[in-house]
Amino acid sequence: MKSSNSGYTLRCITCSHVNDERKTSTYCTNCGSVLTVEYNEVRPEIQYPLKNIQPDPLKNHYTALKSLTRLSKIYGADIHAKLEFENPTGCFKDRGSYVEVLKAIELGADAICLASTGNMAASVAAYACYFKIPCFVFVPEKTPEVKLAQSTIYDATIIKIKGDFKQCELLCREFAKSGNYYLAGDYVFRMEGQKSFSYELYEQGPIDYDYIFVPVGAGTNFAAIFKGLKELKAAGLVDHIPSFVAVQPEQSSPVVEGIFKKEKVIAEQVHTMADAVAVGDPFDFYKVMEGIQETDGLAFTATENELLESMKEMTVEEGLFTEPACAIPLACFKNNLDKFKRKKCLFVLTGTGLKSSQIVSKYSLSSPVLSPKLERVQQYIESGFPDLQRKSWGQSREMMMGNVSMDEEHTRMYDEYVNSINKKGKTLKEEEIKALKSLVYNEDLDLKHPVEVLDYKLTMRMHGLVSAAVKLRLPNGEEIISLDQGVGPMDAVLTAIKAETDAFIPLDVKNHEVEILSPDTDSLVIVTLTLEKEGYPFTTKAASPDTIEALIQAFVKGLAVANKALV
Ligand SMILES: *Cc1c(COP(=O)(O)O)cnc(C)c1O
Ligand SMILES: [Zn+2]
Repeated sequence: MKSSNSGYTLRCITCSHVNDERKTSTYCTNCGSVLTVEYNEVRPEIQYPLKNIQPDPLKNHYTALKSLTRLSKIYGADIHAKLEFENPTGCFKDRGSYVEVLKAIELGADAICLASTGNMAASVAAYACYFKIPCFVFVPEKTPEVKLAQSTIYDATIIKIKGDFKQCELLCREFAKSGNYYLAGDYVFRMEGQKSFSYELYEQGPIDYDYIFVPVGAGTNFAAIFKGLKELKAAGLVDHIPSFVAVQPEQSSPVVEGIFKKEKVIAEQVHTMADAVAVGDPFDFYKVMEGIQETDGLAFTATENELLESMKEMTVEEGLFTEPACAIPLACFKNNLDKFKRKKCLFVLTGTGLKSSQIVSKYSLSSPVLSPKLERVQQYIESGFPDLQRKSWGQSREMMMGNVSMDEEHTRMYDEYVNSINKKGKTLKEEEIKALKSLVYNEDLDLKHPVEVLDYKLTMRMHGLVSAAVKLRLPNGEEIISLDQGVGPMDAVLTAIKAETDAFIPLDVKNHEVEILSPDTDSLVIVTLTLEKEGYPFTTKAASPDTIEALIQAFVKGLAVANKALV
């Protein structure tokens, strides 16, 4: 792809003020709105706002443009996809990171910094690493390690902040001002990089789509693709710009809402499995609105269940394992079939599923550990579990366990569980029975428990502080009482246990999840712990009518797993 530039100005889209790129590449210094790059001349080749332009050294090929023949047949339309997950770090963001990093170097920055929850961090880290400029990545404390692995191997300095993404963003902005640092993010130069999508598309064949579906978070990618097509049209290379379709998860849809209200909406809370588009304050909203208005476009949402279904369907029918965000186009397409039947549609598939493997484990039954005996393997295959595992997709993972037949030992363990629950005067509902069976079925029967919790007592103190006294039996048979404090009962109990066990089985608690299966009767709570032993994360689960007891059991199980791995 040939590139050049004819000179450009950095103009505010609201007040038209021309900004100086040495002062800002983020917000207008006059009014605080967002900026756009205006080139002095129209040219047929792609223009980048850089003095020296060279081809992206990390990029090996154009991302594929693929006809989704099976889905087209199923739905009676002509569906195509551009596989943006084929970019070097598995996500389209590389197109923008490349330009941002070169710009940072051109402006003489000492380092580049950004706040991110995943893909952008990995992408900027990769280019910063290649072009040898230091990179600071601000991430929320709860960012899964798997998302940080790329940033880590690309040598970024990772700054994990107690708080959420918004806090990271604010702090990173402050950090950028504290030195000669280039602040990267969904800003104007990123868009100039990401518009290369449209130039590639142009070189790959005629742009004769009726609709282009773009999963939207901040809206920067949508705006970039639109800008690219507008430039191509101005240069006379494209005569019609397809209608743009902005798609979002229902639970994180400020852009779609804003399109209907015709003004920017900021969502306080956004919770969706499509975390790559979970953006509450969409930076480029007004550019998206313009793209929709100018192309007679549309905006839709899809539910979490529809995302799961479409994610699976794309994998099964077309072999494309993508992030949940990339399932939004298909889900919205299916929800509005009457509009899209017989139309030529292009889905922008933004990121790879390999970075979202946690979604697969969360929404399907996990495989139990079997003892290494052929008859056990055969018993397992005949138990009906593998079929259920396939069918369980999209449902909460504890559903449908009712019909699985268990072997003797697991049945005994299940009965023990039920007995202890009944002893507490509780009876299980059907849902809870399924959940418990699923949990027991996944249990490793050979696990030896090195530590036992015999009893515990909690005392509430001031300001949410809780004191815990926990009676433990240690591996040498000794019984001791450990006293400690924590914020809340769960923290207090874990701190007290860990005070004794960390010395011989060091175990970090990375995350805990509490599921109450029927809030009305309150008879079964499932606690899932994400634990980490010397950098190796794993999860354990336990069930009880009592949250603290389930927590203790799950942690003690974790000690057993860690201990087994030690020997
Ligand atoms: C960042 C991202 C998006 C959203 O792009 P915006 O420019 O924020 O609208 C969509 N999908 C994936 C995989 C992403 O990483
Ligand atoms: Zn302005």
